[in-house]
Amino acid sequence: MWHAIEQAISEATNTSFTIQQKTPVHGGDINLAFEISDGKQPYFLKLNHKDNKKLLSAETFALKQLSTFKCIATPKVICSGETLDKGFLVLEFIEFRKGSPEFWRALGEQLANLHVDSVHGQFGWQEDNYIGSTLQPNQWSSNWRQFFSEQRIGWQLQLLREKGISFGDIDAIVQKTHDLINHKATPSLVHGDLWQGNIGFSSNGPIIFDPACYYGDREVDIAMTELFGNLPKEFYDGYEKVAPLDNGYKIRKHVYNFYHLLNHTNLFGGLYQAQALDCWEKLQRFDI
Ligand code: ADP
Repeated sequence: MWHAIEQAISEATNTSFTIQQKTPVHGGDINLAFEISDGKQPYFLKLNHKDNKKLLSAETFALKQLSTFKCIATPKVICSGETLDKGFLVLEFIEFRKGSPEFWRALGEQLANLHVDSVHGQFGWQEDNYIGSTLQPNQWSSNWRQFFSEQRIGWQLQLLREKGISFGDIDAIVQKTHDLINHKATPSLVHGDLWQGNIGFSSNGPIIFDPACYYGDREVDIAMTELFGNLPKEFYDGYEKVAPLDNGYKIRKHVYNFYHLLNHTNLFGGLYQAQALDCWEKLQRFDI
């Protein structure tokens, strides 16, 4: 397996690469990760079982799409491929450092620029992709409320039902979330999984990684940054300076985060199920 990866890196970089050091990197939930180096040049390697290689090809595609807008840095894709039993993705290795207030502000501004510059004709994505390891459907749609309530909320509820977990009548929940998304959204390229664990800083500034991209309401990215505790204030100041949020965001963010809580329930169960239920109870109290 390692030989195939060495060969792919050598071909992609036009420089012979032989692994001398291999250090596991922890922190991800889905893939195995390593820092690999020939003693001179380090790379970040993500590995998954061959049956899950589509997760890595979806990530490769999304990282490349994000980088085309040149608004916000992402790890450069070196190469990707498969060995007999594994899928792999090799990325530029980033030496992460702590974010300063200036870097957090820059992250907000750059994300807002991405959202504004990437406006597209429809909601969706060129392919279905993954949120964590859960399939994320992305059929093109001109109707955001329908897209989100059906392809995000309804889809997750359906998967939960197949596992014997129910939050109530799926059609009624889809309808309620549809009704709560009461604003005219524009399709922007969103990271799609923008929690603190997928944000870092190099000496040059902010970097976002591990995306679950699609064209959606830009508010989904901001909402997710608030799901597990807010980011520093400078981030929101920077974002709002470039692209202020619409009225009603404070309600919609709970609808958008309900999706991630349902997905976490699907992936990890336990406490997330209780949090998802709390969120659904809160949504029912909102009257639009
Ligand atoms: P997973 O897909 O399994 O969730 P991530 O892409 O989130 O994995 O990566 C796991 C961890 O590896 C991250 O939390 C981060 O600390 C580190 N990491 C991610 N990308 C890079 C990179 N390009 N260079 C160095 N470290 C990275």
